[in-house]
This record gives sequence, C-alpha cells and structure tokens, in this order.
Amino acid sequence: MITEGFSFSQSSLQSYLNCPRQFELRYIKKLTWPAQRYADAEKYELDMAAGQTLHQAIQRYLLGFDGTLILDKLQAGRDHRIPIWFNNFRAKLGYLKEKPDFIAEVPVSIALGPYWLTAKFDYLYLEDSQPIIFDWKTSSKKPRKAQLQESMQTKVYLTVAHKAGLGMETKSPTIRYWEANFPDLDLTFMQEEVGLERYLIELKMLIDQITAATEFPRTKVVERCVYCKYRSYCNRGVMAGESDADQGFEFALLEGKEEILSET
Ligand code: SF4
Repeated sequence: MITEGFSFSQSSLQSYLNCPRQFELRYIKKLTWPAQRYADAEKYELDMAAGQTLHQAIQRYLLGFDGTLILDKLQAGRDHRIPIWFNNFRAKLGYLKEKPDFIAEVPVSIALGPYWLTAKFDYLYLEDSQPIIFDWKTSSKKPRKAQLQESMQTKVYLTVAHKAGLGMETKSPTIRYWEANFPDLDLTFMQEEVGLERYLIELKMLIDQITAATEFPRTKVVERCVYCKYRSYCNRGVMAGESDADQGFEFALLEGKEEILSET
C-alpha cells in the first residue's frame, strides 16, 4: 500500500501513532479535510497563519533582509502578536544570522531502506562538527520539557541530522526549541550515540510496522476524534473541540497517557 520512495516525517509518524486510520486518510488516500477541526475555526486559522508568518519573517531576517523593514511590515499587519514574537527572536537569537553556512527552512532526508525520513529544519548550523538545530514555536501554553524530549519531532530531527552527515563526520546533534511566547525557556535536547541508536531502531520499527500494515483501524481513544479533521469519514461525530484546548497542537502518546504537542 505504501510504495517505495515514500517519505515519512515526524507529522506522518505521529499521525499513525495517534490513529492509523488518520494516517491512511491523510497520507495514503491524500483526502482533503472535510470537517471543521475546531469549534472556533477562525481563531485556529489565525493562529496557524501567525505561526507561518513568523517563520517567514525569521527566515528573511536570517537571510539578510533588513530587520527594521520586516518589523515595520509586521506591525502594519492585523496580528499584533507577530511583531512581539519577532522582536523576541531578534533579542534572543538574532546572533544566529552571523553563523557561517547555516541552513534555514530546508528539508533534509535520509534513506531508511526503500523509504525516506525527512526533517524540515527551521535552522541548522555546525559548531565544531556538531549539528545545532533550532525550531521556532508559537505555543500559547508553556510546553513540558519531558514531553518534548521524547516527542516524535525530537527523535526524527536528531536522527536525520545525525545520519545525514551534512558532508562530514559529525558529532551528536542538539535540538533547541525556541518558544516565541516564552523566549527565555530553555528547551534544548541532545542524545549520545546510544540514545541516537535507540531512536533509529524505534523509527525503523515503526516504519516497518506501517509499511507492513494491511489495515488502518480507527483509534480506540474516541476523545481524539473531536480534534480530527477526518471525523466525518469515521462516523465519529460532527462536534468540533475548542482550539483553546490544544491550540495548534497534535496529540502524542507518551508514557501511556495522551499528551499534546505543538505543530509549528
Ligand atoms: S476521526 Fe477519529 S478514528 Fe477517524 S481518523 Fe480521526 S482520529 Fe481516527
């Protein structure tokens, strides 16, 4: 069902863990979203657009566009959170534009058997042969460190940065999540060789499981369905959840409990 050359990402792997049926509808059948995801969809769309605008503004800034001009444009916009976030970024991480040979908003893939595993890095540079990854987020709630540490994004991004080689023999990578609403929060993670090997084995096993699957059952955790865009395909109700409950978030399974993680 999944053809050779299929590219897995942290989002698609997380989607499968959330609900195999959701993975099938989204990544195999590539169906559009027939259901409103949130009861207050307008706010959700606004938050998603704000996150994307911040990513674009940071990318332009890193690539050498004038920061004052970018800020003027953001201040002329309707969403007054974005210039505040951008100023936070310039104050805390503006030095990143001076790093030599960084990449920003670039997808990098590694081969896992006949499949690909892809991470889109908001920012990555090498410091003494160590890949340093940054990921910008606009969560409205302060994320929990333990939750992020074992997130699918951390596993995929560290694995891809480590295995991609980036043209040379590299040391174990680190990933730092930077929260625009909590600019001083330290959310930096790294893994030594043993931990990276554990991630790789875990990701390979998950991909093997997905590619061998002949059925993609619906999740048994029906509470998830109120936040799912595909619920009208599953007879799982038409009522949408409130975006305040998991603004811009996706479910993740951690230690047997349901948790939520930011998408942006
Ligand atoms: S509505 Fe529920 S069962 Fe259907 S795809 Fe979404 S999460 Fe899975």
